[in-house]
Amino acid sequence: MRVLITGAAGFLGSHLCDHLLGEGHEVVGMDNFVTGNRENLVHLLRNKSFSFIRHDVTEVISFQGKLDAVMHFASPASPNPESPFGYPNLPVETLAAGSLGTFNTLNLARMNAARYLFASTSEVYGDPLEHPQKETYWGHVDPVGLRSMYDEAKRFSEALIMAYYRSKNTDTRIVRIFNTFGPRMRVDDGRVVPSFIQQALRHKPLTIFGNGQQTRSFCYVDDLVDGIYRLLMSDEHFPVNIGNPMEISILKFAEMINHLTDNPAGMDFHPDKRFDNDPQRRCPDISRAKSLLGWEPKVDLNEGLKRTIASYQTS
Ligand code: NAD
Ligand code: UDP
Repeated sequence: MRVLITGAAGFLGSHLCDHLLGEGHEVVGMDNFVTGNRENLVHLLRNKSFSFIRHDVTEVISFQGKLDAVMHFASPASPNPESPFGYPNLPVETLAAGSLGTFNTLNLARMNAARYLFASTSEVYGDPLEHPQKETYWGHVDPVGLRSMYDEAKRFSEALIMAYYRSKNTDTRIVRIFNTFGPRMRVDDGRVVPSFIQQALRHKPLTIFGNGQQTRSFCYVDDLVDGIYRLLMSDEHFPVNIGNPMEISILKFAEMINHLTDNPAGMDFHPDKRFDNDPQRRCPDISRAKSLLGWEPKVDLNEGLKRTIASYQTS
């Protein structure tokens, strides 16, 4: 297959490029580098099956040649308002990537009669009132809150995709990605995994926002791309959660990182930095991924963190 991946210079996009090339496909990467990093693709530049186009997906995409699949991953992804790469500081860009960008990539898939896969998120469930989150849960989202530019862009994208699937027979798929981590996450976008690892490797206290009792469920990137690839190759058109159902509090997570890095500096609590609408509990129900795709995560949190810490030590 010839596959276009938007957001290719980002964390997940670059790992997806690697995975698809490894499966023998031809990959065209697209990115405008708003939050991505050229370094993430350097190792692919001599690969004859890989090419790259610098382009903003919010502009119409004119493309030479046939595509068999379009995977739309371009969007800022960090909720941290203190980073210039966080979506609160790129609000219009985030809404545009998840509206105009989705529209443009859908049209490209439709013109090519190609498969389409969209990177949605657990954020469509907002600060959830149901636990764990099943795909049938409609969510608890503030449409004007400080995360709304991201949450509502993703929810709008899902609605647009279902409209293309239902009314135009476009061959669409939606993955709802839960917190994923691994090598190549930006150290300065303020997300918890690279922030804690950087702090720990410098023997600084880990910055806990709020009281640390909020939970997340962290999936290692290799597991995630395996699940996404299975979804791409499937005929499932309704959203599928992909994530690791092992739920952990941010406090326990910080203890784990300090233990793995021998960081003596402990933690620093920032009760004031519990950002508005910070979801209090998040854990995927992955029954659909298991039954439809035969997928479940294989890399446990300890092992995934060891690999990620090692990658930050060598970079
Ligand atoms: P990232 O910031 O590392 O990658 C996003 C990439 O998209 C960057 O390279 C950025 O430059 C590019 N981009 C943004 N707007 C663009 C535009 N208008 N035109 C072209 N390129 C553009 O983030 P990530 O963690 O790799 O996330 C990738 C996708 O997965 C996003 O859509 C995100 O919402 C989704 N997602 C990620 C996670 C996670 O845990 N990493 C969880 C849920 C959903
Ligand atoms: N967090 C934290 N310290 C940090 C960064 C994040 O305590 O330096 C917390 C944040 O408040 C949230 C969780 O870690 O509860 C996960 O944050 P992240 O930004 O990685 O993504 P989210 O899951 O909120 O989208």
